[in-house]
Amino acid sequence: MKYMRIPQYVEVTVWHKLGDHPEVEKLDVSRFDVSDTELCTCLKKLNGETCGRPMSEHGFLSTSESDGKSNIVCPGDFIVEYDSGYIRVEMPDAFSKQWIMVQ
Ligand SMILES: [Zn+2]
Repeated sequence: MKYMRIPQYVEVTVWHKLGDHPEVEKLDVSRFDVSDTELCTCLKKLNGETCGRPMSEHGFLSTSESDGKSNIVCPGDFIVEYDSGYIRVEMPDAFSKQWIMVQ
């Protein structure tokens, strides 16, 4: 038997700065052993590409079950909210490979 996943809708916010999404707060850089002025180390990105912005311009999503570096929000990242209430950070490239805009 073959199965296909049932389509679902998610709410997406493209995050650029503090205030763009209520669940993204200022990044406490000391938690990740970096400084505010250091350029993005994209601690969560494994492909070597970074957003190139200072860490002071990053946010932190504190609501999901993970509390680690995967919750660091780069300017331009997508905040994705599922019907279940689960919220996560997605890099634009990864997100666009799985989702299409419907409205
Ligand atoms: Zn970044």
